[in-house]
Amino acid sequence: MSAQLINGKEIALALREELAAELAFKKYRPYLAVVLVGNDEASLIYDRNKQKAALAAGMDCDLHHLPEETTEDDLLDLIGRLNGDDNIHGVMVQLPLPKHINGRRIIEAICPEKDVDGFTPQNAGRLLLKDERAIVSATPAGILHLLKTVHQNLSGLHAVIIGRSNIVGKPLASLLLNQDCTVTVIHSKTVNPKEITRQADILIAACGCPKMVKKDWVKEGATIIDVGINRIDGKLCGDVDFDDVCDKAAFITPVPGGVGPMTIAMLLRNTYQAYLALKK
Ligand code: NDP
Repeated sequence: MSAQLINGKEIALALREELAAELAFKKYRPYLAVVLVGNDEASLIYDRNKQKAALAAGMDCDLHHLPEETTEDDLLDLIGRLNGDDNIHGVMVQLPLPKHINGRRIIEAICPEKDVDGFTPQNAGRLLLKDERAIVSATPAGILHLLKTVHQNLSGLHAVIIGRSNIVGKPLASLLLNQDCTVTVIHSKTVNPKEITRQADILIAACGCPKMVKKDWVKEGATIIDVGINRIDGKLCGDVDFDDVCDKAAFITPVPGGVGPMTIAMLLRNTYQAYLALKK
């Protein structure tokens, strides 16, 4: 069997076009503020791409690019101003922040109703409680969207997630539990992980270990979502050994072009959701 590709690039483009078409007939523009501290080149490119995508979808978007030496208090001041500005509906701070800034304190300062990354304790808690007000962080929301393109019903499927980070593994576990999946989460202390991954109807790799998941980790006919973004000799690869597993899986996301493009699309959707909730 040769796995069918789940084309995140095309699916994300369709989502962004759908959003643009919806906003084209509105008199308002949702407004996203992106905050970047420091000069990490990859983050700057990524945030400029977010800005371009937001503008193309018919939103407004400012990129607040602050110098590396910005103090925690100055950053908190900016977030306070963005929180208090009624014209702004979404606020996100690019992570990681420079070491002298306490990232948790910064995230917790963002108004939950404008927290389009879904990283505040309020949104994480609402997701856990299956509260519809939750703004769900963009990467897990994008993964769920991809899964729904190939599974009409996720109920009862065994989903195994490799990775328990606050931005991918944990919110994804809640999201899939809320879809009635049976969820198992694997982490670096898990004993004999492939005994578990071999039982997965849906296997999601989000551990940052290049090509760790091989054929003998995979159940025949499984759906594989590869979240990892790694480089080997300058070439991008995921956490799954694509060539090794693709005869065994039924569906698989490529890297690049799988989960990555979904993240920006879902961030824009979250900004629109935040706008609608704030205007109620
Ligand atoms: P983190 O480093 O925050 O978390 C990695 C997780 O994987 C941890 O829970 C860790 O376990 C677990 N882990 C590490 N090594 C192993 C192992 N050998 N076996 C089992 N579990 C292991 O990473 P992120 O969640 O932020 O990101 C994961 C990957 O996804 C990265 O490659 C990142 O670049 C990519 N990513 C891609 C995005 C996209 O848009 N496509 C968005 C976000 C991330 P423990 O908790 O025990 O340390």
